[in-house]
Amino acid sequence: MLPFKIQLRSIIATTLTLSLAVSSFATLAADKIYRLKLAETWGPNTPILGDASKNMARLAEEMSNGRLVIRIDSANKHKAPLGIFDMVKSGQYDLGHSSSYYWKGKVPNTLYFSSMPFGMISTEQYAWFYHGGGMELMQKVYAPHNLLSFPGGNSDIQMGGWFKKEINSIDDLKGLKIRIPGFAGEVMARVGAAPTNIAPGELYTSLERGTIDALEWVGPAFDLRMGFQKIAPYYYTAWHEPGSETQFLVNKKTWEKLPADLRTILETAFRVAAFDMYTQAIDANANSWATMSAEYSDIKVRDFPPQVLEAMQTATEELLAEQTNHDPLAKEIIESQKQYLTKVRAWTDISSKAYLNN
Ligand code: CA
Repeated sequence: MLPFKIQLRSIIATTLTLSLAVSSFATLAADKIYRLKLAETWGPNTPILGDASKNMARLAEEMSNGRLVIRIDSANKHKAPLGIFDMVKSGQYDLGHSSSYYWKGKVPNTLYFSSMPFGMISTEQYAWFYHGGGMELMQKVYAPHNLLSFPGGNSDIQMGGWFKKEINSIDDLKGLKIRIPGFAGEVMARVGAAPTNIAPGELYTSLERGTIDALEWVGPAFDLRMGFQKIAPYYYTAWHEPGSETQFLVNKKTWEKLPADLRTILETAFRVAAFDMYTQAIDANANSWATMSAEYSDIKVRDFPPQVLEAMQTATEELLAEQTNHDPLAKEIIESQKQYLTKVRAWTDISSKAYLNN
């Protein structure tokens, strides 16, 4: 039997060694650096859309004290601007930044999480996402594909597009060759127009040469540099993308291996980057519109006539009813959006809209 003092000393020494080992293990775990790869749809240095990922990655790295390091690959690097869904699903990339309606051909229900014709404006849609059940429905659509999706920044309300001729009645849309992709294109087809999709690089020439009579792109922030105002004087106001939201995609396995604090940091970085992109888009639209309207005084801003809007709204409702009939999840999403829009618009009408009309 060892004398009591020596026994005590050895107990203290063992405890000390043990506690040192535990604390250095804890330090190791807390210091572990998670290196994630993000693929974005946009080309390098794309303003606004491309700023969202950079901002998010910087925020995540700073908030995590360097434990989250995110490398961003733009479209020039991964060569698959519209392949983000597949690359994040397979785990080739941990994260993605893109737009939910690009996957409509693959998973039709992804359509509802960008923007819908005659749907919610950005602020209403954010309220739906964060407080009205939108996020839960979005995860329901993405979860079977090993993915999580988060709002990734709003490009602000989009303009109805550039038209060479004025639209005075529904007859003026008959046979009109217009570049307008996706669901809005289907609506246009239903009211008699001939929608097409053309690569961005060929849009100006197609409009100039008359291959198309009209096109929609985004809004002043993105339209100004495309130069459409030089060849099509009528600039129509919004109907089809009242608040286009981009998205951050996360591979589910990556998400699950992250410690809880880093998940919260990542989610917070997504939310802040989304808000920053939205305010940046509003500011850029205001600046570009100031330049555009000063330098091209011939631009004629027009609203579509009520008869045309009614026809397009009816076509939208018919197409949505068809989706509702053959897919229970589509029904759930469409009904959630419809109910939320009814409630939130009643408030928008007596608040923002009333104020702006005063
Ligand atoms: Ca657009």
